[in-house]
Formats: sequence, C-alpha cells, structure tokens
Amino acid sequence: MPSSNVFSSDTLLIDMDEKEERSVQELRALLTKRCDLSKAAAAFCTQHTLLRFYKAQRGDLVKACESLTQTLEWRKDNVDGRVLQCPTCKVKPGSHSFQRVGSDLLNRPVIYGSPARASDPTVKPTVDHVVYALEEAFGKGGGGPGQWVWIVDLNGFQLKHALNIQLGLQFASIFTKHYPERLGIMLLINPPLVFDILWKVPGPPPGIE
Ligand SMILES: [Zn+2]
Repeated sequence: MPSSNVFSSDTLLIDMDEKEERSVQELRALLTKRCDLSKAAAAFCTQHTLLRFYKAQRGDLVKACESLTQTLEWRKDNVDGRVLQCPTCKVKPGSHSFQRVGSDLLNRPVIYGSPARASDPTVKPTVDHVVYALEEAFGKGGGGPGQWVWIVDLNGFQLKHALNIQLGLQFASIFTKHYPERLGIMLLINPPLVFDILWKVPGPPPGIE
C-alpha cells in the first residue's frame, strides 16, 4: 500500500496510508455528528489524535468514536483550561517523581520516574502530576504527534510501592483509555529482587510486555 503525506489541519505532517486516511476522515465525520467540539476539543482532535484512537481500536470506527468521546469528556474535567503544573509539587517539590529529562534519538520525550523518590503516594495528586507532564510533553492542546519513553527507576522499590494497587490501576486505565498509542517504550532500571519476583508471578500490567 503506497504511503501518502497528508498536511493536516494542525499543520503537522503525518504519514498515513490510503485506508487510514479514509478512516480518519470517516471518524471525524462520526465524531462531529455525535458532538459539538469545544475549542479545546477541536485542538485535541488533530489527524494524529484520530489516527491513534483508530489504531487503538484496531480499525473499529464506532469503538474509536466512543473511546474518543469518553476521552473528550475526561479532558473537560481533568485537562482543558488547567494550568499544567502540579499544585502539590509547587508547594512541596519532590512530592512526585515523573518528569521529562530530554528526548531520545527519535525525538521522543523521555520521562523519568522513580516510585521511591516520590514522597506523596496519594493517588489523585500523583495521577494529576503524570497527566500534566504528559500534556506538556506533547505540546499545547495535547494533539501533537509522537510517542514517549518512560524510564522507571526501581532503585529503592519496596513491597509498599507494589501494594499501592489503586495507583497502578489508575495509571493503566488512563494510559489505555486516554493516551492510547502514546507509550513508545518503557524501561525498567535497577530492579530489586522483590520487583523481579512480583513481576514474574502475576505478570506485567495490561498493555505492557
Ligand atoms: Zn507533583
């Protein structure tokens, strides 16, 4: 299948084959029929965004539209109009450990995080911190192209970190539902023995091999 370059409405170059290009157009038509897009939603719904949701639902346009609509609702409550700075870390720096440290050779944002370095394990503030960092990484509006690299430093990882199940579930849910096709690669460094055992027994979280 030949590949064609499409100059999208967000003025970013994107590679799509003919089928993807047609499907993204159909997805946009479905979406605009289903809801009136706010200014923030329109900025988010770039060709890149539509293609990601289309791919995440393995080409099922109805499911992709449903999933994207849910994400637009979630963004209204959690992202749109927010100052993308963690209020907890503003007051107490180091409360969370999840920050961009640069880019890799493919120009993907590289984000470093370490469970043991975070002093505040509370779920909602931690999730907000992560969401703001991801939004910053992909540019204003959240509709930019590309994937990110996640370096998880497990130095100091203890059983208590593994037992913060709610946080793990929230991460898995948000990454899968609202940032599909975004995580390029996850690197786990300095794993202690306890992590090795925990990883092998129940297996890695959903979507991660
Ligand atoms: Zn924070």
